[in-house]
Amino acid sequence: AIEFRDVVKCFGDVTVLNHLNFSVKKGEKVSIIGPSGSGKSTVLRILMTLEKIESGAVYVAEQPLWHEIREGRLAPAGERHLREMRREMGMVFQQFNLFPHMTVRRNITEAPRHVLGLSKNDANARAEEYLQLVGLSDQADKYPHQLSGGQQQRVAIARALAMRPGIMLFDEPTSALDPELVGEVLAVIQRLSQESDLTLLLVTHEMQFAHNISDRVCFFDKGEIVEDGPPEVIFTHPKEARTREFLKLD
Ligand code: ATP
Ligand code: MG
Repeated sequence: AIEFRDVVKCFGDVTVLNHLNFSVKKGEKVSIIGPSGSGKSTVLRILMTLEKIESGAVYVAEQPLWHEIREGRLAPAGERHLREMRREMGMVFQQFNLFPHMTVRRNITEAPRHVLGLSKNDANARAEEYLQLVGLSDQADKYPHQLSGGQQQRVAIARALAMRPGIMLFDEPTSALDPELVGEVLAVIQRLSQESDLTLLLVTHEMQFAHNISDRVCFFDKGEIVEDGPPEVIFTHPKEARTREFLKLD
């Protein structure tokens, strides 16, 4: 579903992704762990086409995000192609990024109505469906500021799901939450992971959680994948010294 092929990404003189090769199969649940600044968010931002790359190629659903590289440059992809590619993916950020002036229901129905062209009734029915999934059916008429952080993040998840993406990207979805609210958000993601055939790519510092939900865990350091394997291996007997050090296993 996702493939990075020899991707280089720089910010000025700093190489953030260093010839990264990384892929996620359709339906696979993959966690990315690693120290701050290792390039984890950059991977997700590139997928959402929020960042360009210097060289290499990125594929989503077997399609290149950008057109072929010619003479060392990425040919610009049409805005229409990028919009279609973005529609394959839903993203949930650390900050919930809800529209503050819209009710919960409108937060969820806005894109299905205006991007997918659903009728108001169909979009409302869809909002109902996903609010139920995240356990917030009774909050549809509230505004974001009337909800707790955990509830807001669950609305953000429902909003992303309402576009019915094939791939869900999560960037530290619980790290802005008070500790007592982390569990309710993780529970929703865990259910999604178990009960859906979504492709799931999650950046997280919640190691136990990554252990529980992932088919595979990738340890990033300095823009490279140091180690990639099943959670039972990565969290208990990783091969690489850097992984052991990060997880404080020695
Ligand atoms: P964290 O765990 O702190 O979220 P991360 O692994 O997500 O870290 P990234 O956000 O991908 O790290 O950043 C990787 C590197 O790129 C960092 O050194 C960061 O300072 C740099 N970087 C990210 N975005 C920009 C930007 N817009 N301009 C300049 N440098 C950037
Ligand atoms: Mg980050």
